[in-house]
Amino acid sequence: MSENGVVDITILGAGPAGLAAAYYAGHRDASVRIIESLEQLGGQVAAVYPEKHVYDVAGHPKIQGTKLVELCAEQGLQYGPAVHLGEEVRSLERLSQNGEELLAIGTDKGGPYLTRVMIITAGHGAFEPRKLGIDGIDDWDGRGVHYFVREKDVFRDATCVIVGGGDSALDWTLGLQDTVKPPIALVHRRDNFRALESSVNEARALESSGRVRIFTPCEVRELHGDGSLQAVSIENTKTNEVEQVECDALITLLGFHSHLGAIAEWGLELHGKRQILIDPKTCETSLPGVYAAGDVAGYEGKITLITIGMGEAAIAANNAIARIRGEKVQPKYSTD
Ligand SMILES: Cc1cc2nc3c(=O)[nH]c(=O)nc-3n(C[C@H](O)[C@H](O)[C@H](O)COP(=O)(O)OP(=O)(O)OC[C@H]3O[C@@H](n4cnc5c(N)ncnc54)[C@H](O)[C@@H]3O)c2cc1C
Repeated sequence: MSENGVVDITILGAGPAGLAAAYYAGHRDASVRIIESLEQLGGQVAAVYPEKHVYDVAGHPKIQGTKLVELCAEQGLQYGPAVHLGEEVRSLERLSQNGEELLAIGTDKGGPYLTRVMIITAGHGAFEPRKLGIDGIDDWDGRGVHYFVREKDVFRDATCVIVGGGDSALDWTLGLQDTVKPPIALVHRRDNFRALESSVNEARALESSGRVRIFTPCEVRELHGDGSLQAVSIENTKTNEVEQVECDALITLLGFHSHLGAIAEWGLELHGKRQILIDPKTCETSLPGVYAAGDVAGYEGKITLITIGMGEAAIAANNAIARIRGEKVQPKYSTD
């Protein structure tokens, strides 16, 4: 990064395509900044299916989502890009500084971040955790409501209520057993869980030893506490019985939703409603100096797969570099 904070390439989104673009840009000696709205790397793979196996990524006959993300991150971050997690890109403007045309990127947390070109690898848009439909739920942020488990120690000796019926909810009901104060209350709105049967069986076994309480078909209706969370009310939706349960930490693991958001208002030509039109030969969008790759990039015949996104990332990064340096597009082999 130069002294005034200008980077060659800013990558918007740290999914597989964004991390691949970071690799190719770093490999070509470009300075890089990555901005990702989630607090984690890996895009859909990390957020939606970390435990599943993927079989069709080139060079990996079978690989678990988490492992794939780990490898993409190892490869993508090896040249030391600046990484901003938990920041959603909102605005894009053009400015001129010392005779150089630059892009100025604004996020919900700050900016402007100055860059010579941008590669948008935003997938289906910024991910946000799905929240409980309870009025004022956002007021509990930082006061006992959590949407991720990043460090188990945050929950040390806490009474926990986990909401959800998928793998994440079950995994953390099991994974926090050695950390929190038992029992963990597991709340799901249906009778049946979507998670792996073996995890559900393990949770039921823990229930019989008093380490887990399973509430189904139930929903959390109210949160209670002065300052910080102390209890939640859980309603059985069949009997309408309500029980108030002690709770220092309410962890809701209900998946994510995404939206293209402000990106759709930057004047980029779109392909359908959810993709940015690119020229597949260069991955450039309708705005000069703005490239796109991965699921967010659209054109006739596009297939949204990880391998394709990684290929587009290589095209975008090499074309972006050629633009910055005013040279012919010339990829460099990575072998040494
Ligand atoms: C259940 C499931 C199974 C799948 N299985 C396969 C499979 O077997 N094989 C395969 O090839 N593909 C599979 N896919 C598709 C694959 O996951 C996607 O093609 C791939 O993740 C796209 O990568 P990406 O980097 O383009 O976007 P994403 O992975 O979506 O990453 C985009 C990132 O950009 C961030 N972002 C978006 N907007 C902003 C913003 N404004 N500011 C900051 N950050 C932003 C998002 O938070 C996200 O982290 C599957 C998808 C799902 C949902």
